[in-house]
Amino acid sequence: MIEFNALKTDDFVKGILDGNKIIISRAITLLESSLHEHQQKANIILQQCLPHTGNSMRIGITGVPGAGKSTFIESIGNLIIPTGKKIAVLAVDPTSKKTGGSILGDKTRMEILSKDKNVFIRPTAAGNYLGGIAFKTRETILLLEAAGYDVIFIETVGVGQNETAVYSMVDFFLLLLLASAGDELQGMKRGIMEMADIICINKCDGDNVQRCKIAKAEFKRALHLFPPNESGWQTQVETCSALTGDGLKNIWENILQHEQLTKETGYFNKNRKQQLLHWFHEQLQQQMNRHFFEKPFLKAKLAEYEAKITTEEITPSQAVNEIMSMIF
Ligand code: GDP
Repeated sequence: MIEFNALKTDDFVKGILDGNKIIISRAITLLESSLHEHQQKANIILQQCLPHTGNSMRIGITGVPGAGKSTFIESIGNLIIPTGKKIAVLAVDPTSKKTGGSILGDKTRMEILSKDKNVFIRPTAAGNYLGGIAFKTRETILLLEAAGYDVIFIETVGVGQNETAVYSMVDFFLLLLLASAGDELQGMKRGIMEMADIICINKCDGDNVQRCKIAKAEFKRALHLFPPNESGWQTQVETCSALTGDGLKNIWENILQHEQLTKETGYFNKNRKQQLLHWFHEQLQQQMNRHFFEKPFLKAKLAEYEAKITTEEITPSQAVNEIMSMIF
């Protein structure tokens, strides 16, 4: 039995580098903790792990609940494991508290994969740190890389800002869709299609095959109207069945081709550097916001200005100007 409170940061780092799953889990818990002391410890661990990071392929998977994300990861994971790779699965799902079900919370999911010694699955502690969840996920990726995981899946429900956050921390972005007679296309946000490196139309099995093929053709047509990806990669549209495994080998090959292409062109590294800067600015902005609005002086002023605005004594932009000139 390991006594975690007695573990020093060096013990954590050694455990992570040795691939000890219990210690990795514990380190992630430290990372996710809101206690200052835990965060400090986590930061030291992270810093020491940093030289060992960067060596994985980070794959984002998004899709509505029920699209088959968990089933897909389970099936494609079982295809990848025999090639000698270690796999980790994380989730970004700040909504799960509200909807009552966590995307990875269900124990029955990824049953085979979760028992494999080369797989690490982390159900999200969703909702506990709204807004900050993506930062934690990004840092968790680093710990997992230090622990030697080669392929890291980050699963997210395609709602709100989640998918943009996940997009900004992965090398490859996979959009899992269902063929609902073209409805998908109409209701689909253009932004998310532009982010996708591959659009997979899942559940292409049984009497759904024809519908999936039609949907595939429609998506292909729609994609023609889009500008080419900055990476030089052409977004692919494929059908698959996460249940039977049909089409998954092809999808994995697409992912490998994408990796090869982007590494050859230098986009892979360039994108990772851009992502680092993105997270730096995001985090800075979030912290600034928090510290700024928590200042008692400002809180009082805000209430004062809100009253003036609602009684139409002053316009919102005048109020902003006055506050700004008071501070800067
Ligand atoms: P998630 O919410 O996106 O993670 O979706 P799940 O992986 O939990 O799948 C939702 C349901 O769809 C489950 O009952 C799965 O068994 C089923 N499912 C997933 N993939 C397929 C598939 O390729 N074909 C069929 N027929 N059913 C699937």
